[in-house]
Amino acid sequence: MSEWSDRVAQLLAEPRPLPLVHAGDPVLRQVTQPYDGQLPDEQLVALITAMRETMHEAPGVGLAAPQIGLGLAIAVLEDMFAVPASIAVARRREPLPFRAIINPRYTPVGPRTHSFYEGCLSVPGYQAVVSRAATVRLQGQDETGTELDEEISGWSARIVAHETDHLAGTLYLDRALIRSLTTNENYVRRWADPVPDEARSALQF
Ligand code: ZN
Repeated sequence: MSEWSDRVAQLLAEPRPLPLVHAGDPVLRQVTQPYDGQLPDEQLVALITAMRETMHEAPGVGLAAPQIGLGLAIAVLEDMFAVPASIAVARRREPLPFRAIINPRYTPVGPRTHSFYEGCLSVPGYQAVVSRAATVRLQGQDETGTELDEEISGWSARIVAHETDHLAGTLYLDRALIRSLTTNENYVRRWADPVPDEARSALQF
């Protein structure tokens, strides 16, 4: 077995959900190694399943391999949460069925950006506003090795960008309007509006 396969076998021996890695761990700051068949196919499938279970349990809408301590370019995405219609419309938050992305990269399509609060399972307890492209072109592979090349818009584009950033050692706070930073408690109490206009005025970001 390869070193990567040994490492994944150790991870998969842990109970679910897998433990999450938090900010301050160097694995979150390293550029991941491209996935190029380092794992047997069945182990890759088992890893993706474990990542999905861990994402569900958190709960979250995405999980990148570094967040379970693994420096490989693999992430999972899924957003099937029910949200109020006002939020779904304002944030263009549409259902995103489960998928795995391997060696993803994204590029903005057009000049439009959206600024909304987001959080990260590796930075628990906080949220901040990040301006992100309204539409991105996603390239890479899926878990079967099939090449991806598609345009993704709205909240799903934010998820793609956030998770792909993780694989390059970038946290959302690196891109955030840092004066918007809020605890989850204050977010729920004050800043959960569909768009963060009041927060922008009051926090001056
Ligand atoms: Zn994250």
